[in-house]
Amino acid sequence: MQNYEKIYSTLKIEYETYQMFSEQHIQELNQKNVKLEKSIDSLSNIIEVSKYINTFFSNDDLISMINDMILGILGVTYSTIFLLEDGELVVKASNIENMDIKLTSEELLHINKEEEFIINSEKTLKETGEKKTQIHSIMGSPIKLRDKFIGYIMVEHNLYKFMTIELKLFLRSIANQIAIAIENSLLYKELEKINQRDSLLGIYNRKYFFEFLEKNKCKKMEDKFAIVMIDIDDFKKVNDTYGHQFGDKILINTAKIVESGIDKNDILARYGGEEFILYISSFVDENSVYNKIETIRSVLENSGVSLNNENKSVTASFGIAFSNLNGTGINELIKNADDLLYKAKKSGKNRVLSGHIFKI
Ligand code: GH3
Ligand code: MG
Ligand code: MG
Repeated sequence: MQNYEKIYSTLKIEYETYQMFSEQHIQELNQKNVKLEKSIDSLSNIIEVSKYINTFFSNDDLISMINDMILGILGVTYSTIFLLEDGELVVKASNIENMDIKLTSEELLHINKEEEFIINSEKTLKETGEKKTQIHSIMGSPIKLRDKFIGYIMVEHNLYKFMTIELKLFLRSIANQIAIAIENSLLYKELEKINQRDSLLGIYNRKYFFEFLEKNKCKKMEDKFAIVMIDIDDFKKVNDTYGHQFGDKILINTAKIVESGIDKNDILARYGGEEFILYISSFVDENSVYNKIETIRSVLENSGVSLNNENKSVTASFGIAFSNLNGTGINELIKNADDLLYKAKKSGKNRVLSGHIFKI
């Protein structure tokens, strides 16, 4: 009997030790599980953020959209994104009312050092916005592109101890995403610009011209506007006599002269080889358009490009078509301008002809 008691008590102790151990183990596992879930959560958040930013990288409001996203995901009271412009940090997005952004000396110190920071304080750190929200935790992260400081994100919360290491890591990853998005966006804009231009003349290309007209179609149909077709006279002869390379110089010079004779809102494009197309949208009256083109014609005739110390000049012919108030199809208008250009060529070249189309 005694023997059994002994066995029983040993087993009991073993069992209790085991139970304690397993309970502790389960608790640890649970904690690990929670941590893991949190990391998965923040990882999927980061993936979402990255997807979101990459979808909208070409959008002009990208930075505001990212700022809204930070507010949503981090749950902070305020978020502000600064970007460096001409050596100065400029507020690009913020939900602080009236953009009334005040920085504490401590915040400024961290920004100037281009470093991240977390401050949690029982004492109010500052009062932000119109409602003078008492801020008890602040966190910041620099935006760096390949180690180059390009901006800063600052988030604030009214609760004490709101900012955590996890949030800091998350903000850091957003800052990295912003840097990449900004670079992508700049590259995209550069590429877009290159794609819009003629590589030899630097003016718009035909593709851009028609895209522009398409985009402006609805509001312009009722508006008055003019299409001008321009074609250099006897250009083949220039090429044949002086060579193709000199022909290129003449083309460049012609584009420059037309460009300096038009207004900021006019759109000049290379239509084809030595043909240009011009869209004029704002003018006082048709005469003013005619005079503007006539001036360009005259400047071109009297200018030249030097070749072996000799000035060589070309002339061009112009056809101007005006939209009528009934609303003219753009293709009709271009054809009309082309017909007038053809007439200008037939009647001796180096001249400007203008007119309307009348619908039958
Ligand atoms: P017209 O007065 O009737 O317009 O006669 P033209 O000789 O100007 O007309 P045509 O259309 O027969 O000739 C245009 C020439 O422009 C032919 C082509 O070789 C030349 N051309 C087209 N693109 C370029 C270019 O990029 N550079 C150079 N140098 N020549 C070009
Ligand atoms: Mg031609
Ligand atoms: Mg020609």
